[in-house]
Amino acid sequence: MRAVQLTEVGKPLIGADVPIPEIGPSDVLIRVAAAGICHSDAHYRAGVSKIDHLPLTLGHEIAGCVEKVGNHVANVSAGDRVCVHYLVHCGTCEFCMRGLEQFCRSGQMIGKDRDGGYAEFIKVPNANVFQLPDEIPFEVGAIIMCSSATALHALNKARLRPGESLAIFGFGGLGFSALQVARALGCGQIYVVEINAAKLATVASMGAIAIDAKAADPVEQIKEATAGRGVDVALELIGSVKTMRQAVLCLGSLGRAALVGITSEAMSVSPYTELINKEVEIIGVSDHLASELPVLIEFARGGKLRFPLETLRVVDLDEFQINAALDSLQDSIDHIRTVIVPSK
Ligand SMILES: [Zn+2]
Ligand SMILES: [Zn+2]
Repeated sequence: MRAVQLTEVGKPLIGADVPIPEIGPSDVLIRVAAAGICHSDAHYRAGVSKIDHLPLTLGHEIAGCVEKVGNHVANVSAGDRVCVHYLVHCGTCEFCMRGLEQFCRSGQMIGKDRDGGYAEFIKVPNANVFQLPDEIPFEVGAIIMCSSATALHALNKARLRPGESLAIFGFGGLGFSALQVARALGCGQIYVVEINAAKLATVASMGAIAIDAKAADPVEQIKEATAGRGVDVALELIGSVKTMRQAVLCLGSLGRAALVGITSEAMSVSPYTELINKEVEIIGVSDHLASELPVLIEFARGGKLRFPLETLRVVDLDEFQINAALDSLQDSIDHIRTVIVPSK
């Protein structure tokens, strides 16, 4: 089968002809119909995130049709439309037993620690396979498995309740999903903090209030818009210490700041005035959980989580097209998501 692989860090991906994976009794073989090209894939190729063994087929945002199942598989059968949870987990360690498989002692990420979806077929454990309703196109089924799932996990970690107000820092792929998922969860007023004019221009049409961080201090703007109260929940999706502090400072009493963006810089907070007085919480967010995916899939099925066709760009399972898409991710400022759809 065709696969597009990382063979050397820092070099372009290479097209390869590899064997179709052999499945075990609990495995599912999926014919890939769509595989999202994600920012993390660009990081793997560039060597920003460490890859342990090469060659590796990238791709962790996957949807397709079940080709074949192992003898012990009961949740799906051949021909089913499915999407894939990217964290392969043991199911028996103390974290898996509590449904917290993102901390699994022997967890593996598909497309990083084991071969992913930039291929005609992929083998995954049956626990990672979810039915994809007919209403959801494969392309959408693939991309909601990463950024939308993380956005939902962040809102769950922040314990967003219906009617509560929310500030979203950064309106890229994660923010685009976070806004829609927050609405689907019954969120109250939503403020979106951005510096990019084109992105800010789309915020109002999605029912939120745009906060231009270039125009004035976004914390002051949010305080003013909330009559001095601040918001209940803030999501930091950029990975900058500056916006992380703003996410904490824009909170009202009992507010929760969920930090999703990644930075290696240290962040300072004044404990008494900024946290203790208001009983504010700062929450770290990593990946998402299998248990959250059915809700997410239902939001997409019901049209609450949408990716209009003009936001999707399709490329073939072709090394040149995929490398070009990864190159252009580096400086993209729009909501366009590129999805690999292998030609027949
Ligand atoms: Zn991703
Ligand atoms: Zn485990």
